[in-house]
Amino acid sequence: MPLPKLDDSQIAWIIKEVAAYIDRQRQTYRQRAVPLDQNERAAMQPFFPASCLDSTRVVLLSDQRVTNPPFYGELIKMGFDALSLPDFKRMTAITYMDTIVSHEPFTERLLFHELVHVVQYEKLGLPEFAAKYVRGFLSGGSYEAIPLERNAYELDARFAAAPAKPYSVEAEVEAWIRAGRF
Ligand SMILES: [Zn+2]
Repeated sequence: MPLPKLDDSQIAWIIKEVAAYIDRQRQTYRQRAVPLDQNERAAMQPFFPASCLDSTRVVLLSDQRVTNPPFYGELIKMGFDALSLPDFKRMTAITYMDTIVSHEPFTERLLFHELVHVVQYEKLGLPEFAAKYVRGFLSGGSYEAIPLERNAYELDARFAAAPAKPYSVEAEVEAWIRAGRF
């Protein structure tokens, strides 16, 4: 089922709601989130700025799942198919700015992927991140097609292929921003 045709004010409303959802979720989970441990830090340090590793907190949920945004009901009224909307409770992990919430124990690759999102948030700021996430979903038609996700998957694959070969995730994200790829 194709996505509904939306006008600019509907798109602006969705972006605002997504940003508010991210901000609320961050506040909910931040209090019980913990810093990266020594091993995680050592593995990620060659790829990420120290400031990003310092500010990041992680939470592993064992007996609960993240809930979907409360405005999904409104999106369905706008004409979205419920099955086409990203299902947060089934995702492995979700990053809310500097706070990573995971449903599964962290592998290095999973942590790497989510830290790319932390860098994206840092570089873009929350309103711009939310706008690019929503517009990416609307133009690509799926979660996988969102350029912010493609960037994170591309970089985590590069890490998994050569974990001992350092590169700057920050420089990669900046290059994507300069090239207008988000
Ligand atoms: Zn992702």
